[in-house]
Amino acid sequence: MARFRLIATGGTISSRRSPNGLLAGATGAELLAHSELGALDVEVDDLTTQGSYSLSLADLVALVRRTRDALTGGADAVVITHGTDTMEESAFLLDLFHDDPRPVVLTGAQRPFDSPAPDGPANLAAAFAVAADAGARGLGPLLVFDGLAWQARGVRKVETLASGAFGAPGRGPCLRVTPDGVRPLGARSRPPAFDLDAVDELPRVDVVSAYAGCDGALLDAAVAAGARGVVLQALGAGNAGPAVTDAVGRLVADGVPVLVCSRAFSGPVTPLYGAGGGADLDRAGAVFAGDLSPWQARLLLSVALTHKPEDPGSVVTQWLEQPAPHQI
Ligand code: ASP
Repeated sequence: MARFRLIATGGTISSRRSPNGLLAGATGAELLAHSELGALDVEVDDLTTQGSYSLSLADLVALVRRTRDALTGGADAVVITHGTDTMEESAFLLDLFHDDPRPVVLTGAQRPFDSPAPDGPANLAAAFAVAADAGARGLGPLLVFDGLAWQARGVRKVETLASGAFGAPGRGPCLRVTPDGVRPLGARSRPPAFDLDAVDELPRVDVVSAYAGCDGALLDAAVAAGARGVVLQALGAGNAGPAVTDAVGRLVADGVPVLVCSRAFSGPVTPLYGAGGGADLDRAGAVFAGDLSPWQARLLLSVALTHKPEDPGSVVTQWLEQPAPHQI
């Protein structure tokens, strides 16, 4: 019989109503009991019990380490219960370090543990079905929700309350969970993993958004607050006004790497426009981060800073360039 590890971290799937609002509290064992999963060999690890909106970078690194420990300890697959708000970040950080064909599957819920119609039990059952499926091997950490599975890169929370909380704009899901089993939909290959042992803690990288009429004040403020790198959530295909572009040039000249992502949900950024547009950001030394969301790009830059502090941009560029997406 397959050996599973369930790492519980909190989130809506474990939350109950309280006078102070929803609060995470149900343990991994309670989640299992609620799900009527039948006879499975599951070892439970209650890593933390909190909303994912309050997880720190250190918490995320702890989750990556615990996942690796579970696999080193002989688990055939790992299932992680997690709040939906930052699940795409944890999935991506796990992906950056995951160098193992065994499945790691994250799931959660939109409705709480004590809801009269919770979605957590079905999501947890689907997560275990995917974790047990041979078709999930080698795809990296997967996010399973509402009957679909996504690879980590590109997955985003796209709905605040609806059951189908996730999507991967421009990429799509990789597996479908049906009553008859897990069906492949098409998956992409992944770049080689980073070395987790080379990481002690992740340096601070902030995300600063561009919008009509913005200036460079928040970029400067991020650095003043201790950011070692910044992700600019730029406009469209990667533009910002001249004031922002000037500030980016100052940051890069001072040795603070800047990545460019888009506030649009889908498609890559590319340096096209002058007069403060992407071509100027490129000339200012910013690194264009493909179709990564700002929040996933932030984690990539943070990891890149630990691996090559003198030139993290080259690590990011190399990671983005390999390998070309293809069907597995
Ligand atoms: N809405 C969130 C959830 O689904 C809260 C959180 O991220 O913990 O769990």
